[in-house]
Amino acid sequence: MNNKKLDWFLVHSIENKSMSKTILSLEHPRSFHMVGDWFRVTQYIPGYNRIMNNDTSPFLMLDYNAPWSIPPQSNGYRPGVWFHPHRGFETVTIVYSWEIEHEDTAGNGWVIWIDEVQWMTAGSGLLHNEFMTESFANKWWIQHAVQLWINLPKKFKMTPPRYQSLRKIDIPEVVFSGGKIRIIAGEYKHIKGIAETFSDLSLFDIRFQEHDTLSFDVSEENTAMLLITEWTARILWKECSNGDMITLSKTGTHIHIEAENAKILFMGGRPLNEPIVQHGPFVMNTEEEIKQAFDDFHTGKMG
Ligand code: MN
Repeated sequence: MNNKKLDWFLVHSIENKSMSKTILSLEHPRSFHMVGDWFRVTQYIPGYNRIMNNDTSPFLMLDYNAPWSIPPQSNGYRPGVWFHPHRGFETVTIVYSWEIEHEDTAGNGWVIWIDEVQWMTAGSGLLHNEFMTESFANKWWIQHAVQLWINLPKKFKMTPPRYQSLRKIDIPEVVFSGGKIRIIAGEYKHIKGIAETFSDLSLFDIRFQEHDTLSFDVSEENTAMLLITEWTARILWKECSNGDMITLSKTGTHIHIEAENAKILFMGGRPLNEPIVQHGPFVMNTEEEIKQAFDDFHTGKMG
């Protein structure tokens, strides 16, 4: 066999080993609940009447605020969520359309504008609030966002709080013929995402303009999920539409997407597989640590 033939052989044997993932579940948006006032979300992870678990690790929770038109508020009122604590994980807010002003007891505060992301590491604990900006609250507007809770590995649960404001212009993009991939976290074709993370995970904001296909591989045994946030797409040849949440099998590595005019959020990562004990806004590894979190909150140690 000459070298050219050998190359061909190697490339094709590698391709053949790239086994496709399969669709484990496809959920349509059904129920909604309110977070604070006016944050109208559907919970896909862990889902209604389910406790937080390792099935989608490191992702603990996904609340999706599908596009929703809200009327102007009167008297300078700003809908939102008042000060509340978190410990043991990270909250990641991805804004498609909204303006959310944020303030926390670690001394951070900023606005998440359209197409921006806030990556807040609660770690050892803090209190924060989340409100619409005044200008947003004063007009008819569409709110559209995702909030993820991402677990911290056991050894980082008590890391000091950290705040990453990921600006639109700073999020790296990989262009393909039909659109682009905004790399929020992880790596795509050697382009590194902007967010610093505590475990191996990927968050891609995939945007199709023209009709095209996109395929990529992720590590075997990694969690892989897709949320269609705009229009329709074929995920592994299955027709999906906006608001659909697709969970893929852990086995296999290959993901194939076909779409046009669509926005798709890809969430992937290496499962942490450490014990999860959750109570309200605290996610730790043991009951004892949860009790400690409540004590620390009530004695003002979180700020
Ligand atoms: Mn919060």
